[in-house]
Amino acid sequence: MDPTLADDLSRLPELLQAARDFAAGEVAGLAERPVALLGRAPARAPLPDGGAGAAGALARFARRWAPGFSGSAGPRYLGFVTGGATPASVTGDWLTSAYDQNLSGAGGSWAAALEHETLGWLRELFGLGEEHGGAFVTGATVSNTVGLAIGREWLGERLGVSVSRQGAAALGPVDVLSGSPHSSVPKALSVLGIGRDRLRQVPLLPGNREAVDVAALDAALAEAAGRPVIVVANAGTVNTVDFDDLRAIAALKERHDFWLHVDAAFGAFAALSPAHAHLVAGLDAADSVCVDLHKWLNVPYDAAVQFTRRQDLQVAVFHNASPYLGLPAGEPDFLHLTPENSRRLRALPAWFSLVAYGSAGHREIVERNIALARSLGEGIAALPGLRLLAPVRLNVVCFTLTGDPAQERVDALAREVAASGEAYVTPTVYDGVPALRAAFSNWRTTEADTRRVLAALAAAAATA
Ligand SMILES: *Cc1c(COP(=O)(O)O)cnc(C)c1O
Repeated sequence: MDPTLADDLSRLPELLQAARDFAAGEVAGLAERPVALLGRAPARAPLPDGGAGAAGALARFARRWAPGFSGSAGPRYLGFVTGGATPASVTGDWLTSAYDQNLSGAGGSWAAALEHETLGWLRELFGLGEEHGGAFVTGATVSNTVGLAIGREWLGERLGVSVSRQGAAALGPVDVLSGSPHSSVPKALSVLGIGRDRLRQVPLLPGNREAVDVAALDAALAEAAGRPVIVVANAGTVNTVDFDDLRAIAALKERHDFWLHVDAAFGAFAALSPAHAHLVAGLDAADSVCVDLHKWLNVPYDAAVQFTRRQDLQVAVFHNASPYLGLPAGEPDFLHLTPENSRRLRALPAWFSLVAYGSAGHREIVERNIALARSLGEGIAALPGLRLLAPVRLNVVCFTLTGDPAQERVDALAREVAASGEAYVTPTVYDGVPALRAAFSNWRTTEADTRRVLAALAAAAATA
């Protein structure tokens, strides 16, 4: 054994303790760390020949890289839909690495059973029934891709062809209908050989909405008659967190044949709040469902779940078995369900957080984030230089400058806010208007943080 490696082995508990001490110091300062760092990263160092040992690597990391890591897991980073990592989820994440289980199959370890227990809890949290089989994947993009891959296989079943064997061309052109799809949906269509151009954007409801007009969807489905169709319904759009009427869309199945995929990446968490659960009523009717966990469950990257009613078709797409072994029988191992073969125990951080805080603890995070978004929205509406572009429906505030919100002015505002180190918001375009969005999904964010964000916005808007 390399002597440095042997030395590390003999000192492993001490090295883990050093990592723990360093991490504790870093997270203790998280709330006051600049929320975004815009400085230049160090020049790339050459590959070391002789090793520095784990302690040496930690020292070098602490010196060269740690100072440039952002406070994006902290309470005033409101970019994208980000979320942080609850204390219990970090514990679970560390243990995931320490145990280093391979979750491809169930053999020889209880780890796969733990993933199933966690999936069952998540199903319950989001109001899904037993019919929805699930699996952990790396993020909502992969969850959407897997859901749409199962839909693609289902279209083949309807046409009497096997896409997994014959390829996507066997389907001919596919129509993918959606009102306000996330950018990951065209990406998935590209990966799946359906093609980005097959996405048909269906008209939205009038009156500043991002939800699909179900009557227009009905008409689009009638028009597509004969061609295979996937409908992507959206439960929580990124700009204004609007929700498609899932029950009404599912009811269209009585008259039209289509696969219903629901992108509920963060919107699914509305189910945790009794006052907002109606927004995701009907989720259980979906053929496949995408939910991100590294956003509003506040577990570390990378974690999402993918649910489907047709795990048999999922196995047809993703099975990893030699032809002579045939398809797996009974409960499929995870390697037959997801793009990965070997995979880490991604469920453990979620398991820890759900055990530590329960559904009540996670409901509190969701409800607090919603209340804070509303409070920031009220604050922005009252500022002279800013105006809301949409009502605050859940956890995102979409706003812009008063007067002419030219792209350069809005970009400058975003830069100014980021440079203050106080807050981070992301630029977007909503209804043709350059805008900013502040998304609340971090478990740490308080009313005091929200006041600081508003003050940073006010200061930046005054000079924009
Ligand atoms: C964030 C998001 C995605 C993509 O999620 P990743 O985890 O970044 O892959 C997809 N859909 C919606 C609605 C999202 O908010």
